[in-house]
Amino acid sequence: MLDPWTYAEIEDYGRLMEEFGIERFLASELPGTVEVPRLFKQGIVFGQRGFGPVLSRMRMGQPFAVMSGLMPSGRMHLGHKMVIDQIKYFQRFGAKVFIGVADLESYATRNMPLAKAREIAVESYIKNYLALDIGLEGLEVYFQSTRSVVKDLAFALGRKVNLSTMRSIYGFGDQTNLAHLHAPLIQAGDILHPQLKLGPMPVVVPVGVDQDPHMRLCRDLSASTRIYNPTVTSDGKVGVFVKVDENVRDLISRAEGVLREIGFLDLRPIPDYKAIYVDSATPGDIPTMDSALAELEHRMGHPGMMAPASTYHLFIRGLTGEKMSSSKPETAIFLDDDIEEASSKLKKALTGGRDTAEEQRKLGGNPNKCSVFETMLFHTVTDDKEISRIEQDCRTGSRLCGQCKKEAVSHLGSFLRDIKEKRSQREHLVNDIISPD
Ligand code: SF4
Repeated sequence: MLDPWTYAEIEDYGRLMEEFGIERFLASELPGTVEVPRLFKQGIVFGQRGFGPVLSRMRMGQPFAVMSGLMPSGRMHLGHKMVIDQIKYFQRFGAKVFIGVADLESYATRNMPLAKAREIAVESYIKNYLALDIGLEGLEVYFQSTRSVVKDLAFALGRKVNLSTMRSIYGFGDQTNLAHLHAPLIQAGDILHPQLKLGPMPVVVPVGVDQDPHMRLCRDLSASTRIYNPTVTSDGKVGVFVKVDENVRDLISRAEGVLREIGFLDLRPIPDYKAIYVDSATPGDIPTMDSALAELEHRMGHPGMMAPASTYHLFIRGLTGEKMSSSKPETAIFLDDDIEEASSKLKKALTGGRDTAEEQRKLGGNPNKCSVFETMLFHTVTDDKEISRIEQDCRTGSRLCGQCKKEAVSHLGSFLRDIKEKRSQREHLVNDIISPD
């Protein structure tokens, strides 16, 4: 079982993907029109669920949205920055971005007072998002506690799931407080509400793999609100099924109209089966059909929410080798660390170096196991040629860890200085991006 609130070391991502049906994220499929960030190319973003519709919108320049959240309970570190890097990438394809401050969840699961949560969110996260140059166009930051549409949707979605399912997904026991029990529904409200505001569209949620239970619940909940289900039948045919019992003939006839409009002409409606079979369609056509049918549902006054997609990134190794964590300052570089403090942590960081300089010269180091190299690769060295040179020199033994750390400290210093400067230049924009409700 994956627990979104408790960190557990994941030893075998492959097994986890198989067990939970997570698909591989293929960076090679991303459009070549915008430079693909290293965290995709290097496999840090390794998995996805339902990303196909988002990908096709990116390729065709059509609307899609990104939903992200922040848990206001600690300082922002470099691990958190990776989500912002993903968001910035999606923004380059015109994505609308919603960032929900999970203040209700933080209260329910960590007893964090709402006022304190707001202060942490603004000071430690939102100001840094601005400093990292998150795009302002189409960006909305909001607090769960003040966004009625999220809370109302969470309440309504509660009708679609029972206690037994919540226990089996999250392992809730008799001692779980009821606010905690409700928190996943608030998350579902977060993830699905952009489609209430913008209409049906693919929404991608970049998360760590420990958040997958929320995504599975949320995808099931979105499906439970739908009228039509385009799917592959057990005998391999593509069909659209009506999920309600009233007005079936009318619903079938409306769906036929929409399917014809998007180019499917060989339709075999069978009202007794509440189905339309589409003989020429392949499984690859289902996202297009689903999107068009969701639009139809929306026009008919229903939510028509498409299942949200997710991307999964690896847990980032901390400077000490364990997971990067706000509660263990020695494991992480924080975006508001002063340079001396950050440099001292980096100097003590775990490397992929050998026991002696002599061995390292002979056998080379291992940048894949080195937190210093990861800091440069994903955060502080943007020049591809330079990072390749560092990697190569490490592997061939012409670079030793002491010298390398000095260089890494210098890069980190420039990075933190730059962030600090940008924080003060852009902090006046905080109120522009926080939505009042
Ligand atoms: Fe890491 Fe640099 Fe040492 Fe290689 S030389 S293991 S990159 S610190």
